Amino acid sequence: MTDPLFSAIPLPSSLATNLESLNYQSMTPIQAKSLPLILEGRDLIAKAKTGSGKTAAFGIGLITRLKPKSYAPQALILCPTRELGAQIAGEIRRLARFLPNIKVLTLCGGQPIRPQISSLEHGAHILVGTPGRLNDHLSRGTLSLRQINTLVLDEADRMLEMGFYDDISKIIRQVQKSRQTLLFSATYPEGIRKLSSEFQNDPVEIRVDEYLSSEQLHEQFYKVEGKTKREALIRLLSHYKPQSTVIFCNTRQCCKELAEYLQEKGFVASALHGEMEQKDRDRVLVQFSNQSCPILIATDVAARGLDIKDLQAVINYELFPKPEVYVHRMGRTGRAGKEGLVLSLLEKKEQFKLDAIKDFLGKKLLCKHIDDLKDIPDVSLQPLMNTLCISGGRKQKVRPGDIVGALTGEAGIAGDNIGKIDVFDSWSYVAVKRIIADKALQRLKKGKIKGRTFKVRFI
Ligand code: ADP
Ligand code: MG
Repeated sequence: MTDPLFSAIPLPSSLATNLESLNYQSMTPIQAKSLPLILEGRDLIAKAKTGSGKTAAFGIGLITRLKPKSYAPQALILCPTRELGAQIAGEIRRLARFLPNIKVLTLCGGQPIRPQISSLEHGAHILVGTPGRLNDHLSRGTLSLRQINTLVLDEADRMLEMGFYDDISKIIRQVQKSRQTLLFSATYPEGIRKLSSEFQNDPVEIRVDEYLSSEQLHEQFYKVEGKTKREALIRLLSHYKPQSTVIFCNTRQCCKELAEYLQEKGFVASALHGEMEQKDRDRVLVQFSNQSCPILIATDVAARGLDIKDLQAVINYELFPKPEVYVHRMGRTGRAGKEGLVLSLLEKKEQFKLDAIKDFLGKKLLCKHIDDLKDIPDVSLQPLMNTLCISGGRKQKVRPGDIVGALTGEAGIAGDNIGKIDVFDSWSYVAVKRIIADKALQRLKKGKIKGRTFKVRFI
């Protein structure tokens, strides 16, 4: 069965044209199930895994209801972390780009509050924020939610895990009762039911099947008896040579130690965990997504909801005792028709975790011994790209096109050597192919961007 097309639902033609230009033709299953109801104005409680296209589902809904002339916030999206907030805001800006001057404002913690206050004074159409920071604004009186007509709780289970129930309740009480309330969650713990019954109006419940077809995923477990897990991991990486991998650990400490170990062994690898400063987390995610760091070592909390494209492999360095977590992690790879590898290391004392996963999925899973993989010399998986950091960003009015211009113009570097560009408030990152990276650095240091010279360095 083919997926239904966006043209099957009644959308304003300018929005439909924009979806085409984004190359969104068919709806993902969650979009097909939820959009007709969202457009009718119904409240929803929706369960679907990461990467299923939830943002566009609620984003399209709230955009169709937007009054561009009013600069009072009309839609509010609550989400657990700043990274997710940034991703959601980015996706909504793309979806709304056919409307001129739509302001999407992120109000998340871990960032100075002053600039947010002054942005709020100028007005905004759509707010994306974390519960803590939104409450901060409410108690300072710098934010009014009176005109909100669409309220979205994204990754609601995660927000509850982080202890945001009271913050969320306080926020919702400030929003008019006639609103539409959309609740998205990967799991349904008790708190979700409570939130829904307290704050939703006759919600429709929708679910989308979590499991990918098995042809797309290659799942393999490896016993590591007689070796350390670290040695076994090096062997996995050397054997499969995945170009982009997320390695899951259960604790921050394990992430940190494993990253250090892999770096000692010559791999380019970074840890991502909740204790890191915002700037470092941004940098790590940029390097991973622009292919200058092929290995990310993360806890489930840190990786939750992040839209990481083209992930070739997921490695369970530590399996989690709950089998649902295996399914969540697995869902990070094999996306959009591509093949994915799910590799898991298993110590003897962890056999019960494999048994639980088998029971949960109701299928056979292959388990080999790590020594079954040939001992090939370690390869350290050098990345295709390197990242340059430029000391200018949005505040200096630097745009991606300016950076491309500076590299391809006088610097004479061919465009296909330039990868992803990420512009932040006061700095930018550009990925360049490793073979021309030194040249790019020298040229950018000497040349000008927007008529100015910026500091440039490798990260
Ligand atoms: P979720 O919130 O369910 O984890 P996202 O909303 O982050 O998923 O979407 C995952 C990715 O899929 C994003 O990069 C988004 O741009 C893309 N996407 C969403 N809907 C479509 C569609 N209908 N066709 C193609 N790509 C889509
Ligand atoms: Mg999402």
